[in-house]
Amino acid sequence: MPGPSRSPPAATLLPLPPRDPAGWIAYVDLDAYYVSCERRDRPELADRPVIVGPPPGAGPTRGVVLSASYDVRALGVHSAMPVAEAARRAPEAVWIPPDFPKYERVAEAVRACLRRFSPHVEPLSIDEAAVDLGAISADRARTVAAEIQAALRSELGLPASIGVATSRVVAKIASDRAKPGGLRVVPPEEVAAFLAPLPVRAIPGVGPKTEARLTAGGWLTVGQLASAPEGALARAVGPSFARELRALARGHPVATPHSSGGPSSRSADRTFPTDVDDPAELFRTVDRLATELGEALDRSGWRYGAVGVAFRWADFSRASRLRTLPAVAEGPHALCREAGRLARDLWEHGRAPGPPAVRTVSVRVERLHRRAQRQVSLADFAPAGPSVK
Ligand SMILES: [Mg+2]
Repeated sequence: MPGPSRSPPAATLLPLPPRDPAGWIAYVDLDAYYVSCERRDRPELADRPVIVGPPPGAGPTRGVVLSASYDVRALGVHSAMPVAEAARRAPEAVWIPPDFPKYERVAEAVRACLRRFSPHVEPLSIDEAAVDLGAISADRARTVAAEIQAALRSELGLPASIGVATSRVVAKIASDRAKPGGLRVVPPEEVAAFLAPLPVRAIPGVGPKTEARLTAGGWLTVGQLASAPEGALARAVGPSFARELRALARGHPVATPHSSGGPSSRSADRTFPTDVDDPAELFRTVDRLATELGEALDRSGWRYGAVGVAFRWADFSRASRLRTLPAVAEGPHALCREAGRLARDLWEHGRAPGPPAVRTVSVRVERLHRRAQRQVSLADFAPAGPSVK
């Protein structure tokens, strides 16, 4: 990226010029994405509570909520909640069956819009992307982010929350705090103060288990991590993540795998049309999910350090196993092997009382690392790009 247009000092003995402005990242997160896609096509829904998911009562529904408008979320409805429970909590809601091809089409239009503002757009999921704004002033970064937000709203009818910072992880956390519809700029000198009061769970990569370990150590907020004794923190979360957490809490995020602000986990799941009590069928499904997930990760350049499997039993109770791998792995083979092992273990030891039957199975990976050997390109993400298969 070209630097700012400023004449270089003529004499060599002048004081050093001020440091170049930092490179800014705008982290764009579309609000209630599926709901927003439906509302833009049906303006009469603008002020109605909306849930995207298989409508309850339409035959034997076994599905879950995919997305809910913010007024519905205020009633305690969240994504992945069984539709029957969501319908009880939000009886007024308008239900809309999901239209995934539409959401993919709209996501491509979003990416095209973002690329007008920067050639460096990295989609991280169907409704999130990191936009590299380059080395510009903080004021300019705020202006460009506001323009992005306005363009998404006026041209595509989509509300977005945007976080702006000089590291992706801080930009992502800022976008979370800006939801819904906000814009939050965190300059480098304000990072530590911005993060200090936040719960540790606000950090990408800190899931429920890591949060529990941090809580047990007495660390509830990001600010408390800044002064955490290195050894104690390392014992709680491992030495490399401990280093990242301390650096981040002190306002100096390092661009390492967990804190890259990318997805901290990926998963694939399947809800069966009828509960499955045949372990062979269950294990085949686990194998297929693991294969698909492993291949998808491979295509987009991610490696993984932990594998998990979860069953939702017929009575809705949930059991899961997660195993951290001895070394970071890539591709479907290690994932299939490990997921198969965990699934057998769950079937043998994790079942609810009564005859075992599984309603939903999911396979997940955590501790994602960017693969270094291969440059990830837009073609890996953009459906319209050249195939990389
Ligand atoms: Mg979103």
